[in-house]
Amino acid sequence: MPELASVFSARAARLRQLAQVSPIAQYLLLMAHLADAQQHAVAAFSAPGASADRIALAQSHGMPPLQAIGWLRDPIWRDMLRALLDHVAGVSGVPFQAVKVCTALKERLDHDADSLEELAQALLAEREYDIDGAAAPFVMAALQVYWTGLAGHFDELQLPVVSPFGVCPACGSLPVASVVRVGGKQDGCRYMCCSLCATEWHLVRVTCSHCQQTKDIAYHSIEGGSEAIRAESCDHCHTYRKIFYQEKDLYVEPVADDLASLALDMLMGEEGYSRASGNPLLWQHAEG
Ligand code: FE
Ligand code: FE
Repeated sequence: MPELASVFSARAARLRQLAQVSPIAQYLLLMAHLADAQQHAVAAFSAPGASADRIALAQSHGMPPLQAIGWLRDPIWRDMLRALLDHVAGVSGVPFQAVKVCTALKERLDHDADSLEELAQALLAEREYDIDGAAAPFVMAALQVYWTGLAGHFDELQLPVVSPFGVCPACGSLPVASVVRVGGKQDGCRYMCCSLCATEWHLVRVTCSHCQQTKDIAYHSIEGGSEAIRAESCDHCHTYRKIFYQEKDLYVEPVADDLASLALDMLMGEEGYSRASGNPLLWQHAEG
């Protein structure tokens, strides 16, 4: 389960580190400010968690107890969004385009909250249409705070013993990428990382995280790029997800490193593979 004391601050630090050498430094820095605000917000998190009935039902059906789709969100998530927007818009040096997006979103919070609820639904359902690409990262960031808070306060012993393949056992969302960890019991094990609630779950290495095939798995990397980053492709379903190796770089962070390694996505696109799922802080399908 996510470590609430550091989950977003570690992401912010990593984004800043990656920005030092990135062609998309401006965007990474903007997302770092957003992650700072997420850390503040998650520290103050309070919203009702899963009821005993819901946990029992999830356990008996092997379903994620904090399932994002269909969850009755407490309206407090919109206060979290407001706090994020206030923070980012108030940072000096933030590009005016970003401030404009924040201002427009605050307007919508005041006068058109329903449309934000709809956008939230579309983001949680990982739809590729009906998404306002400029507003999406901010709304998604607020939803991340909400679900990371829920997951961080959830007792992992209450998770179902089995859960559906390929989705987060806590909230049912898709993983953003995976990390091979070092140290302790986790040494050498690969964990999938939830794009929404930051929960991590084990998946045997050399296995497609999308279709579970273990044959025709290949690894790709950018020539001369970081050895800590590869794309794991599957010739069965023709998708890929990135895999980060802590052994090569101790500070890899799934959301940040995935975002900063767009060049690898371009390479994979050229090789005919599609991403199995997107990055929560970058929504490219802006128009429906
Ligand atoms: Fe999750
Ligand atoms: Fe596959």
